Amino acid sequence: MGSKNNLYYTIEAFHKEVTGSCMILTIHFPNNRECKIMVDCGLTQEIEYEDDNRVIPYNINSIDLVCLTHSHLDHIGKLPFIVKSGYNGPIYCSNNTKLTSKLIMEDCAKINEQEYLKAKLIDKNVLEPLYTFGHVETTLNLINGISYNQPFSPFEGVTITFLDNGHLIGASSILIQAKYKNSSSLQFLFTGDLKATSEFKDIIPIPDYVKSLKNLVIVQEATYGANDSCEETSEFEDTIIESMNKNNTVFIASIAQERLAVILKKLYEMQLNNLLDDDIPIIVDTTLGINCLKLYERLTPFAFIPKNITFIANNEMRELAVRSPKKKIIIASSGMCDKGISPFYIYNFLGDPTKTILLTSYLAEHTLGREIVEAYYGKKISVYRGKDNIPKLAQVKQINSFSSHSKRDELIEFLEQFSNISYVFINHGSNEAKEEYAKCVEELLNVNTRILGTDKYYKITSKGELYEFEKEPQETNTTCQNKHCSKKKSAVSRTIPVSIRKNVFCSNSVIK
Ligand SMILES: [Zn+2]
Ligand SMILES: [Zn+2]
Repeated sequence: MGSKNNLYYTIEAFHKEVTGSCMILTIHFPNNRECKIMVDCGLTQEIEYEDDNRVIPYNINSIDLVCLTHSHLDHIGKLPFIVKSGYNGPIYCSNNTKLTSKLIMEDCAKINEQEYLKAKLIDKNVLEPLYTFGHVETTLNLINGISYNQPFSPFEGVTITFLDNGHLIGASSILIQAKYKNSSSLQFLFTGDLKATSEFKDIIPIPDYVKSLKNLVIVQEATYGANDSCEETSEFEDTIIESMNKNNTVFIASIAQERLAVILKKLYEMQLNNLLDDDIPIIVDTTLGINCLKLYERLTPFAFIPKNITFIANNEMRELAVRSPKKKIIIASSGMCDKGISPFYIYNFLGDPTKTILLTSYLAEHTLGREIVEAYYGKKISVYRGKDNIPKLAQVKQINSFSSHSKRDELIEFLEQFSNISYVFINHGSNEAKEEYAKCVEELLNVNTRILGTDKYYKITSKGELYEFEKEPQETNTTCQNKHCSKKKSAVSRTIPVSIRKNVFCSNSVIK
């Protein structure tokens, strides 16, 4: 397999569907050196896979460096855990991802500790928190912020470039290039969660040399690989106007990061356009969200904070917000209403026909948000276990127009910018979305695709030969690989080649 004198690469993913993003690209140099690069290290949030968060299915000691595409929890949230478990190498991300990651990881450590203390009251044998503030601090010390479009070489023969991406402030696509003497090479572009435009920054275009790179392998997300984009609707604005005209209070459940800023920007624009009265109070109740807003105010050149905004600082203010009869708009997290302060507002508002509840994020199964959307009018809902069940009498609406991901047609448009794509590896999506999108890329662009799931990994030689290996299921369920820790080490999964497919590249590419 492959030539002794040429580079070859292996790539594998460790996340099953959308959350828990983690991939490892290994560059094998002809002189037997290896460079192992982890791209993202996220927490798994799908309930059925949550146990994966305490499992490390790779050898931490073999990883040379970590690169982060953006600061969503499902892309960075497991980092402090691998640091706790022994990783002490460098972590690279854009300058703004470094800033936002701090807030997200610290908030996660706080929640871990709070939930641990609560659970311990009921069960003395509860598992220790996944990580604490101390582990987050150690992790932050390993992070290096990098500017967009500035290639750097963290490892001899390897060049990495962060490219701008509109998914989130700080979001990047990451170009990884390798070179060994006169050997031909591949270029890997990890798109990360992808969006071409942003409400908060002007996107720096992808440089032309990147678009014309030869032997380019693109690893692309496909969250909405089965959905085409549609005309923007004014559903959000229309519902706010209608509720305000009826003197109804509106509660908006939002993700605490950029989604909150996007919602405030919409309200700000409604005020500017006289669609929303400046006198109507806008109340924000999320500690993480408020910290993110402060950071966004520093990082974006665009105005987005509406007039008459109040930030909730304590329980008294919160109780007043709920009891005051004056119409208002309240925004809190979490977006799915299963965590954070959202359940408090749902508990107080769901049974009141003068309230409107807007859900602005994807709603996973078994979450409170999903339950109240799907419940029939009058159905009693258990918001908190052990407290009264609340009948659904408020107007409850899911708003689908907010999305920070590219839809299928936009994902294809992204690929169309590149003139020499050798393969597209598709990951980050439901199995159906990934499969449907793969078909679409093959048919429309005539490019070879593979789905980068957890069942296989791939070897690609610099001559363009692609080998596919099946992974055996992991045997152990360990949590710690620190050399100094006595806990059981995880087994490295054996691999079986299942097929060999060849696709020869043009061989004289140049790294730029
Ligand atoms: Zn994301
Ligand atoms: Zn993601």
